[in-house]
Amino acid sequence: MTIKQYVALRKEEIKTTVFNMDRKPNLKIIQLNDDGASNAYVKGKLKDCLELGIKHSLIKLDPSTSQEQLLKLIDELNNDNETDGFIVQMPLGNHIDEELIKVSINPKKDVDGFNPLSEYAPCTPKGIMNYLRAIGYNLEGKNALVIGRSNIVGKPLAHLLLKANANVTVVHSKTSKEDMARYIKNSDIICIAIGKMHYLDESYEYKKDAVIIDVGINRQTDGLHGDAKPNLDVYLQTPVPGGVGLLTRLALIENLLLIKEKNDGI
Ligand code: NAP
Repeated sequence: MTIKQYVALRKEEIKTTVFNMDRKPNLKIIQLNDDGASNAYVKGKLKDCLELGIKHSLIKLDPSTSQEQLLKLIDELNNDNETDGFIVQMPLGNHIDEELIKVSINPKKDVDGFNPLSEYAPCTPKGIMNYLRAIGYNLEGKNALVIGRSNIVGKPLAHLLLKANANVTVVHSKTSKEDMARYIKNSDIICIAIGKMHYLDESYEYKKDAVIIDVGINRQTDGLHGDAKPNLDVYLQTPVPGGVGLLTRLALIENLLLIKEKNDGI
């Protein structure tokens, strides 16, 4: 089952679930940055809500909004009974401490799962794990390589893979080229999230039955590209676009539904 098929199937199920709800889940999105990437991400999230019957609103602020003003708004939403969950679209600009913003979001409303105390898993790792489960990929005893160690993708993904009993290795920018090649050659599943276009290419040797989960999004004038070159000689490789990005969007909705259930005392 491709990611597109999986997402379409799951969306149909969610649509029915939401349709049958007396009270619809309510998502709010705060956006400061007005760049093309942020606008595209926000547009995608709003489109999903519309399609699934989820109540939603965008609070678009001026990019120069101060950290204090943003924290005040976050505090309001943290205490707003009408809002099940909310997102602060990153990045926010140099005048704002993103880590402070992440920890200021009420962990009970943190749909993105960015607050370390959040009750919900970060969306990208969660989406990837949901997909692997849906296609019946058994991680037990598999050699899993995570390239990249960010707080929102690499680290939480490594944690979830470990929880699924994979043998997990995490590599990063300080890993030598020789070690990288050795780890890649021995991996059953390679998850890459580094933001380096086509980093994985034919210069590396892969297991024939390897799975590549390409998280990277590299914006070029001709469109989006992943961290892996397309069509490598492996068993399964997720595409960019139309891959992990869709899983991330879906996981966001899944988190929102979990929050809503909790708020309704289900
Ligand atoms: P990030 O915070 O930008 O961190 C990048 C990570 O990659 C760091 O751990 C860095 O190592 C490592 N790295 C950089 N160059 C490397 C190299 N040459 N070899 C090995 N490791 C290297 O990462 P992020 O926020 O997780 O984003 C990574 C990519 O995923 C970006 O393209 C982003 O747009 C994309 N992304 C996509 C989705 C989605 O839904 N599809 C979601 C989130 C992010 P050090 O720690 O040593 O610096």
